[in-house]
Amino acid sequence: MANATPVRVRFCPSPTGNPHVGLVRTALFNWAFARHHQGTLVFRIEDTDAARDSEESYNQLLDSMKWLGFDWDEGPEVGGPHAPYRQSQRMDLYKEVADKLLAGGYAYPCYCTTEELDARREAARKAGRPSGYDGTCRSLSEEQKAAYEAEGRASIIRFRMPDEPITFTDLVRGELTFTPDNVPDYGIVRANGAPLYTLVNPVDDALMDITHVLRGEDLLSSTPRQIALYKALIELGYAKYIPAFGHLPYVMGEGNKKLSKRDPQASLNLYRERGFLPEGLLNYLALLGWSFSADRDLFSVAELVEKFDIADVNANPARFDLKKAEAINADHIRQLDLASFIAACEPWLTAPHATWAPEDFDQAAWEAIAPHAQTRLTVLSDITANVDFLFRKEPVEDEASWTKAMKGEPVALLTTARAKLLDADWSSAESLKNAVLAAGEEHGLKLGKAQAPVRVAVTGRTVGLPLFESLEILGKDRTVARIDAALAKLAA
Ligand code: GLU
Ligand code: ZN
Repeated sequence: MANATPVRVRFCPSPTGNPHVGLVRTALFNWAFARHHQGTLVFRIEDTDAARDSEESYNQLLDSMKWLGFDWDEGPEVGGPHAPYRQSQRMDLYKEVADKLLAGGYAYPCYCTTEELDARREAARKAGRPSGYDGTCRSLSEEQKAAYEAEGRASIIRFRMPDEPITFTDLVRGELTFTPDNVPDYGIVRANGAPLYTLVNPVDDALMDITHVLRGEDLLSSTPRQIALYKALIELGYAKYIPAFGHLPYVMGEGNKKLSKRDPQASLNLYRERGFLPEGLLNYLALLGWSFSADRDLFSVAELVEKFDIADVNANPARFDLKKAEAINADHIRQLDLASFIAACEPWLTAPHATWAPEDFDQAAWEAIAPHAQTRLTVLSDITANVDFLFRKEPVEDEASWTKAMKGEPVALLTTARAKLLDADWSSAESLKNAVLAAGEEHGLKLGKAQAPVRVAVTGRTVGLPLFESLEILGKDRTVARIDAALAKLAA
């Protein structure tokens, strides 16, 4: 690949279910690489597997990319010079290339049945020989082919691998060599004519002039095959050059096992639903194999783009750490300006999350409490329970909180606190605090113990935002009414 060639990278998922974090990291690194080099990001949909692909997953993919803030220069919705970008609409092209590969001798029909292949693989394994395809159909004569056809045997199309080793320099792992024993001839078209990933992926990379293939380590074994296929495509005039390849490290989950697509922690939707900020999630995912600097984990997407280089990606497996993801997201929440924080919380303060009637929502109270919430949230979805006491007619009933807080002499404490709060200055959280502090002193209780019954009476929960600011925003009348309701419940 010529150095002056503008960067063209691709993100090419299969629409087969909820996007997972591994996929998001791959998209992120490709996007950041493209933006860093002022290159082009091609978004291609690898939907040739009709049994597994769905329109719903396709729509979800596009929606996820947009939510994450990725844009693409060619692909669905934006089009481009290599359209269409959905492989299901490119079948004629794959047929044409497969025919040319057959005609040029780069590929051949293989008539072996599954049973024959299995039996020979088993025998090879027992004899300690390489157990990949053994080349049986590599040089069938026209008569042999005709005889198989007459027998009614079906054939797949198999690509002929060269007999010498393949060496390439991985952008992450350095120089790698694959010997022919480890990379046998492989299928590119099924017996029913359906082209396989092994064909369509490199063919599209070639036709779309992709310069860098950045993808997960799980695909490393397909790279020598694709390089061999690329050489054929260059000879046939379909490709200009072989792209550079960089394989991103595995992501490990619980128990040091590879994070699997089925792992609930791997689902992008989970992070969306919990109220991760896209910036927070991307910041964390960037750390899976890359680092900003030795002493800085927190950065913006713009800073990532500015600094990202595939050469800095580490080949070692990366460990997915939910706690760290949450901590980084919390830091991004703190960094929002207040207006953005207020806007970001909006979905969690309306249906279906709100547990109060829409007309009971009070914008002024929300804006007053918001700064206290912004410094405490880990994920935005926590906002609902943190502020519901302001909008609900009655606080939530949480039995565990009630039992925990209403120990000792809650009636005496609450009665004293009520009287002192009535006399306090309601424009000062400090004054409200002093009222509860003084009530506690009368009953031999420290502030922590004294405020617990007040908090549960007013908010329904033992934990929440700073209590005295909360009371000030809720107001005197509603606070006192809730203490009265708690006293009545304690008396009953
Ligand atoms: N559609 C393939 C996948 O989602 C793309 C792999 C690649 O990047 O080559 O695994
Ligand atoms: Zn065969």
